[in-house]
Amino acid sequence: MMKKPVYFKETLAAVEKANQYLNLPEGVFKRLCLPTRSLTVNIPVKMDDGTMSFFTGYRVQYDMSRGPGKGGIRYHPGITRDEVTALAALMTWKCAVVDIPFGGAKGGVDCDARILSLGEKERLTRRFTYELFPLIGPEKDIPAPDMYTDEQVMAWIMDTYSMMKGFTVPEVVTGKPVSLGGSKGRKTATSEGLIITIIEAIKAEGMCLEGLRTSVLGFGNVGYHSARLLHMLGATIVGLADSHGAIYNPRGINMSTIARHKTETGSLADFEGADNLTVDELLAMETDLIIPAAICGQINPGNVDSIKTRMIAEGANGPVTSEADRVLIEKGVFIIPDILGNAGGVVVSYFEWLQGMQRLLWKSREIKKKLKHIMTKAFGEVMDISKDNNTDMRTAATILGVKRVAEAIKMRGFYP
Ligand code: GLU
Repeated sequence: MMKKPVYFKETLAAVEKANQYLNLPEGVFKRLCLPTRSLTVNIPVKMDDGTMSFFTGYRVQYDMSRGPGKGGIRYHPGITRDEVTALAALMTWKCAVVDIPFGGAKGGVDCDARILSLGEKERLTRRFTYELFPLIGPEKDIPAPDMYTDEQVMAWIMDTYSMMKGFTVPEVVTGKPVSLGGSKGRKTATSEGLIITIIEAIKAEGMCLEGLRTSVLGFGNVGYHSARLLHMLGATIVGLADSHGAIYNPRGINMSTIARHKTETGSLADFEGADNLTVDELLAMETDLIIPAAICGQINPGNVDSIKTRMIAEGANGPVTSEADRVLIEKGVFIIPDILGNAGGVVVSYFEWLQGMQRLLWKSREIKKKLKHIMTKAFGEVMDISKDNNTDMRTAATILGVKRVAEAIKMRGFYP
């Protein structure tokens, strides 16, 4: 079995590379390589059968020099503090790349949300919120959905926090249901933002969206909506993958029938309109675009050599290991890195937080327009840095994000 990568070290590799261009003062650089605060908690949950289970949960606030901590909470079996720290660091650069006034944070609970009943999931969420209470708040740290958490989980967090405060505090989380102060457009924001950056990248690379042979790994919120939207725009979805395996059809997969098949059977496998493959087999198929939108480290030294694609757009956080990244750059693959490509989610989270703080309701059209403006601007800025320094897009995005955070740290100075 492949050794589990050390995610945080992987994340720092990009920061070290960015610092070759930035030459930050030693103290500032060292500070950027360490999380500000991390909390590990134990979460006792009464299970439906009357037994007790104990889950480990984490919240890491990586850097909050530019504003309150911001980042999702994921429920994922085997998640570690190392992985949460890496994800919190990525959130820090991501918020800075799209220039929204937040720091970076992330949370996670080591559990398999797919086998928990709704009641068990609710009790776990409420107790986790209770344990996080000293750390979170609209001005301190604002959680959001991530892998295997959704608007229902956000509603429970908001309710538990509000009950403890004694009044309703919708802006303690983003990604809430619209009926509780959630923002229009939040559910599809990550995939819409990703598509905006893909369109920009395609223009820059002289490619064409029509018939773009695309494989999408992951059929959750980001994977599903990205595939669906690209399909609507004329791309050919040749491959899809979920946690059970992959399917492939070079002539294209029909997105509405596959969605129905997944709902009915719980998996993509054995779909009439495609062949079953392993994820690694799918990665080896000739494509124009791959969207990894599932787990960390999905593209790694074990499968990178066989990849035959022109572009990778990272819907997930940290889907390409640093070693695989080097191989892809050598192959000339254009990579839209996570901290740029999937930032649409946190951008609309920012809109949701702003609306909540000001008790305003923005229209869908307004949200889409503002999202497009922010994503296009960030893409252009990263592209310029990449060209000016003759470097890849991940390094360029990291240069931009880290530079903005470093400037905030420098201006604030060190307390006391
Ligand atoms: N979980 C998403 C991410 O990784 C969104 C975070 C947020 O909206 O705060 O970017």
